[in-house]
Amino acid sequence: MSHSPRDPESSERVAQDAVERVVRNTEIDQRWADWLAPTRRGILRGAGVAAAGLAFGGLGAEASDGLDSGFTPIVPPKDQGVSPWGLDTAKEPTPRPKSLWPGHPDRLPEKPRPYTDIKSYHAHFYFDEDSYEKAALLRKWSAERFPVELGNWNLEPRGPHVTPSFYFGFTNDLLPIIVPWLQLNSLGLTILLHPNTDDPRADHLYYTLWVNRSQPVNAYGMKRAGTPDAPVIEKILPNIKPTVKLEV
Ligand code: ZN
Repeated sequence: MSHSPRDPESSERVAQDAVERVVRNTEIDQRWADWLAPTRRGILRGAGVAAAGLAFGGLGAEASDGLDSGFTPIVPPKDQGVSPWGLDTAKEPTPRPKSLWPGHPDRLPEKPRPYTDIKSYHAHFYFDEDSYEKAALLRKWSAERFPVELGNWNLEPRGPHVTPSFYFGFTNDLLPIIVPWLQLNSLGLTILLHPNTDDPRADHLYYTLWVNRSQPVNAYGMKRAGTPDAPVIEKILPNIKPTVKLEV
């Protein structure tokens, strides 16, 4: 059903509908405000379960919708004892945590790190049971258009990635195309872009770019660069041949 703006009768009806919606929402807002008002919560806490029934009953028939007569609200228990935590805080020295930044735990770096340390990039796409179809579409679109190293579907957390994901790796020359392309085609997914240097731990924790929001990355357990058994630099070996001309 559509209303023509030239039809005065239906325009009036639309306006009337809008007014009724606003009024109805106002009533609901007021009901919640009444339920949650500090004065009403004071009645609950002060007089216990018996008075709580009165507090809800006092709002009238409409306000008690959905509450059966045997309803017993949760009443928080009285405080007991003293928390054992933080008792000595006043005696402890002010903490100065070590910097987690790679390479210079105790001071600022003396000079910038050369950008040419970046040998390639990874894009990790995160999804869940509500967004997997978007991930599948974006994976298909990407593989049709870019010569990337396409990884498998990971339906469980894998490595530092804490939710289902897939990734593709790409060479540095594609960065100025893939970043704007993902900005416009993310479909709202959370996407982590990280460089591949000789420090994979830092690549995942400190050198990141995110499309949309970020999410936790559990890479703190990865070995730091320069320590024994540290992971080696990740190489990109493209395994996809594009079949679709990139839209410009
Ligand atoms: Zn990666």
